[in-house]
Amino acid sequence: MNFKKITSLVIATAITAALISGCRGTTTSNIETPEELTIHMHFFDYCVYDEDWPIFQKAAEITGIKLRGTVSETISNSGQAYSTMLVENTLPDIIHYTTPSLTTLAKDGGLIPLDDLIDKYAPNIKKFFEECAVARLAATAPDGHIYFIPGSLSGVDENAIPAMGWFIRQDWLDKLGLKRPTTVQELHDVLLAFKQRDPNGNGEADEIPLFKRAGGISDILQLFDADNGWRLNKDGKLVFGQTEEAYKNAMRELAKWYKEGIIDPEIFSRGSQARDQLLSTDKGGCTHDWFSSTASYNDKYAETVPGLNFIPITPPADINGVIKETTVRGLTHGLAWGISKDNKYPEATIKYFDFWLSEEGRTLNGYGVEGLHYNVVDGEKVFTNTVLSAKEGIPTYMRNQGQVEIGTVGSLATELAGMNEIALKGFNEYRNNKYGVPPVPPFNLNEEENEIKNQYYTNLTTFMNEQQQKWLMGVETVDATWDKYIETITNMNYYEIEKIYNDAYNRIK
Ligand code: CA
Repeated sequence: MNFKKITSLVIATAITAALISGCRGTTTSNIETPEELTIHMHFFDYCVYDEDWPIFQKAAEITGIKLRGTVSETISNSGQAYSTMLVENTLPDIIHYTTPSLTTLAKDGGLIPLDDLIDKYAPNIKKFFEECAVARLAATAPDGHIYFIPGSLSGVDENAIPAMGWFIRQDWLDKLGLKRPTTVQELHDVLLAFKQRDPNGNGEADEIPLFKRAGGISDILQLFDADNGWRLNKDGKLVFGQTEEAYKNAMRELAKWYKEGIIDPEIFSRGSQARDQLLSTDKGGCTHDWFSSTASYNDKYAETVPGLNFIPITPPADINGVIKETTVRGLTHGLAWGISKDNKYPEATIKYFDFWLSEEGRTLNGYGVEGLHYNVVDGEKVFTNTVLSAKEGIPTYMRNQGQVEIGTVGSLATELAGMNEIALKGFNEYRNNKYGVPPVPPFNLNEEENEIKNQYYTNLTTFMNEQQQKWLMGVETVDATWDKYIETITNMNYYEIEKIYNDAYNRIK
């Protein structure tokens, strides 16, 4: 679809209309403000804009602009809802969706550039982009213009807020008289002791020392300074972790761990219930996972497994002696909103967007409505009991009140409020000590690059992941097959992909 030809005409018409009209909405400082704007919002396959959300009702009270959702509630698939919207004759005023889709829509002329509007009408957006360079990068299209406003977690370039951490059975360490592991070797030795010395006391070697519920060995590779995905090497070049020497060494070591019974034989397949299965049966010893959910198991299984004490520990230093955490949150959440070519009130809309990045708007998204969702006690915002005691958990409850991922800053507060003491202690230790390793900044492949990627990428990563399983499980040894492996990925066009990734990355540098 290409909207480009008609875009400039539409803008010209809208400006003329704004100048000569005056009978619709209210006009302040020469900006016509409508009472209502339409919005397309349907994401994660279940979150659809709802006019009853108190958070957006409050925003309407403050800004004078009410949003009206345009998505039919009968569509449950977000991608389908988005495609359906695109073929309508008139696009909704505001389009909210993932940044790659909005980038494509902008290229096709469906969104208008926001640079001048931001300059003239949006001081808070300007400030946000100044404070949060990563957000500006995420918002900048390949043509250099800004077509949408993304959101961020913290609003500043705190670019490595930890997501996950290492958890270990402190009660097992105590029982076996072992210290918390601080290095890779110590971690290995502790986990081997878990396998061999029967910490659950049932006379069987049924312990599963190291387990994961998703991602296989991806997070474990960091102990060996290796990686499963793209990262910057020492020369500042983007490389895929599974092609590096460090990865070869990691696979050699991890195959040994696997053979010794340290790693869950079902690490690639156990799935989302791994923690429930292995902690409720007193078998799991150590994992790497999200702080808040993993810290909840001591309470959950207090009666089933007396003394269960599964707690976060400082990351064991990697083989180079570096204490670090590579699973960090993206600073931008990947969703954004923009102004469509059919919007007759671009100035008022950018001011509405700007509201959400003011202190008042950030607080509204982060904490909800004062009196309803939070109160200020001794100068601190404290969630109300209704929020704190929500059965579905605070983040889900607040989402249903309208705390959604739009172009603002906020959701970390809710998540922290929902953490128990164990989780908070671990999270704060990782965050305050800056263990998080900043991820590669966001960048966009252009159309040609995307075509090349689509042609080769899936086959390549599928091959690499299959080979990884063979090496870990000892079906093949890494030393005997590494050269052949590199030859195969070369033939599968790995280096071509590496080149386009570096070309795209170099454009944002
Ligand atoms: Ca046992």
